[in-house]
Amino acid sequence: MTLEYINNELSVNGNGLTGIAREYGTPLFVYDENMIRSQCRKYHRVLEEAGLDYSISYASKAFTSVQMVKLLAEEKMKLDVVSQGELYTALKAGFNARDIHFHGNNKTAQEVEYALASGIGLIVVDALDEVALIDSIATGKIDVLLRINPGVDVDTHEFIQTGQEDSKFGLSIHNGSALEAVDAIKESRHLNFRGIHYHLGSQLSTESPFLNALEAVYSWLSDSSLDIEVLNMGGGYGVKYVEDDRRFPIESGFRSITGKLKRLAEKYGYPLPHVMIEPGRSIIAEAGTTVYEVGVIKEIPGITKYVSIDGGMSDHLRTPLYDAQYEVIPVNRTEGGDTEANVVGKLCESGDIIGKHLAVPADLKRGDLLAVKTTGAYHYSMASNYNQMAKPAVVFVDDQETRPVIRRQTLGQLIENDVL
Ligand SMILES: *Cc1c(COP(=O)(O)O)cnc(C)c1O
Repeated sequence: MTLEYINNELSVNGNGLTGIAREYGTPLFVYDENMIRSQCRKYHRVLEEAGLDYSISYASKAFTSVQMVKLLAEEKMKLDVVSQGELYTALKAGFNARDIHFHGNNKTAQEVEYALASGIGLIVVDALDEVALIDSIATGKIDVLLRINPGVDVDTHEFIQTGQEDSKFGLSIHNGSALEAVDAIKESRHLNFRGIHYHLGSQLSTESPFLNALEAVYSWLSDSSLDIEVLNMGGGYGVKYVEDDRRFPIESGFRSITGKLKRLAEKYGYPLPHVMIEPGRSIIAEAGTTVYEVGVIKEIPGITKYVSIDGGMSDHLRTPLYDAQYEVIPVNRTEGGDTEANVVGKLCESGDIIGKHLAVPADLKRGDLLAVKTTGAYHYSMASNYNQMAKPAVVFVDDQETRPVIRRQTLGQLIENDVL
């Protein structure tokens, strides 16, 4: 995010965060719209330069909303959904159903019906059982990819590793189950086998797992005498949360991935496939910042200091869930120097932490604003109403204006479905 201090006030694209937070309230998710667009364009550029037939599908689960989906359509992105709700959101935004792909390790019959009725472009089959399910519901032909498991280990948190042999996702290329599913698809009446998909994991910082997967996949395709039109390499391109993190190098990484693909296709005598990728986090994470207001500050003499903010694990789950690290900075910079503190949420759990041992302004006081950087992905989308907390508002900021994208939940909405 283009966050910078102007006259000691944190701003996005030149717009001060104090005024934005005053207008929309806190906690508030603020997105740099220019940055979301420039990430989309960066992926387009590098794949175009590789001279490939390609498409880029944004993974809705990172963050979705009607305005987000409209922006993605403007940026010529396609869309991945993993539930009826994500598909509904995309359709309400007027997104072309042909450009939507349905993922998930347990699509329900109702979801498959809804997807087919809406004219979805592609379903990614995740299990053998799904072939019969889709075949029994479909009335016309439906293009499918098969989610395979290439069995490559990746160096990331175990909850976000997905391409290893022991996984709830996809079918192994090593034990014959992927090939069995391909045969079942080809024998079905309505499923049209277009190619394969894999997703190796999330927050990957180098191209090496992608290169290893390509090797494994092409050798398997060749051994199995299997032709594909589409090769979907998934998402998982890492972002920078804190100084020590290594961002996936999109330009050089994709030059090396596409170079490898071309060499392997030639080596095994395959035409180049239509290449799909599915970035989520790397499109949106660094474009987002959460702004909170400071409340209670508690000093435990000789031990530590706790700074409580007006949100927490209801809008920031990744620290409790993965022990993820974040940078927390003041919206208004002062001259008073820093002190160490634990910045914590207001929910009734000791694990409700934004960050431990962080440097915060020594003169921080109730009413001051703190910004948590790189919260654009898997924050709002993982938000809950735990403790009956209302979900925060979301705004997009470009150089011209700040525009509301999602309104703050109201108290009334918290009991909207309650039987009174
Ligand atoms: C989560 C997911 C993605 C996106 O992952 P990011 O780490 O956000 O890029 C892409 N494809 C599939 C199938 C996924 O499950």
